[in-house]
Amino acid sequence: MEIQSVGIVGAGQMGNGIAHVFALAGYDVLMTDISQESLDKAIALIDRNIERQVARGKVTAEAKTAAMARIGTTLKLSDLGPCDLIIEAATERETVKRAIFEDLLPHLAPHTILTSNTSSISITRLASRTDRPEKFMGFHFMNPVPVMQLVELIRGIATDKPTYEALKAVVVRLGKTAASAEDFPAFIVNRILMPMINEAVYTLYEGVGNVKSIDESLKLGANHPMGPLELADFIGLDTCLAIMNVLHEGLADTKYRPCPLLTKYVEAGWLGRKTGRGFYDYSGEVPVPTR
Ligand code: NAD
Repeated sequence: MEIQSVGIVGAGQMGNGIAHVFALAGYDVLMTDISQESLDKAIALIDRNIERQVARGKVTAEAKTAAMARIGTTLKLSDLGPCDLIIEAATERETVKRAIFEDLLPHLAPHTILTSNTSSISITRLASRTDRPEKFMGFHFMNPVPVMQLVELIRGIATDKPTYEALKAVVVRLGKTAASAEDFPAFIVNRILMPMINEAVYTLYEGVGNVKSIDESLKLGANHPMGPLELADFIGLDTCLAIMNVLHEGLADTKYRPCPLLTKYVEAGWLGRKTGRGFYDYSGEVPVPTR
């Protein structure tokens, strides 16, 4: 099946990045969120980010105009019903995602493929609550979507071959690379990455190092392009905590216990870059470590 129209649910960090790459690849994109403000912010951000690609000579001005014209927004989830492909990229909470799919179901075209950009939640479980578990998959983009090459493809237990093949073809058209992961908590990338970030928070919590020394150690000592705390702020501390909770509950192993300091930051609403404060304070010109 040829996919041409794509509905994106959630216009946050991931939703806007996904809309950006699909529109540039020639897909018709319709994006929805619960707030008009998020939709307006997403459109402004996509415009700015594609403009940066134009300035670098990676995208032509005509391609930018055409891409921006392909992106529509709506506050009505049901408007996404006729799309060939739905990508759910809302907050990492199972109740939120379930409610979205439940509300969408009565409006969907029979051929529509449903996907979730979840970082950790069971695809099989999300799919089982829909009328089309065979047309349901995990479609996991990395942040920032326009920059990162990988897309994880996660088949639920019931996902059929045509759905998997259709999404593989989409990844090729986007110019990205697919990696297939089995449907176990947090799949491949976050199963490995998130315990490292959580351990970095424990290292901070126990006073082994401060924010600066921990990030510098991993950058200069392990050749990571970003330190783990800087990366946690970039991902969003609420998302990091949600993924650790899924690992902890899903694998029932205490080695995935979320660090209490991570929980405390999330309780404070210090979610990282997106709220202006996390392990760093982003209110000034340069990020300043907070511990
Ligand atoms: P975010 O907080 O930036 O954005 C979430 C958006 O979802 C917000 O704009 C919010 O208003 C919207 N939303 C919440 N409930 C909604 C609903 N019922 N209907 C429509 N929109 C709704 O979060 P994000 O970082 O973009 O993460 C989104 C998803 O992508 C999560 O599942 C996350 O695990 C996954 N993900 C995140 C990253 C990352 O690095 N942040 C990477 C890969 C995947």
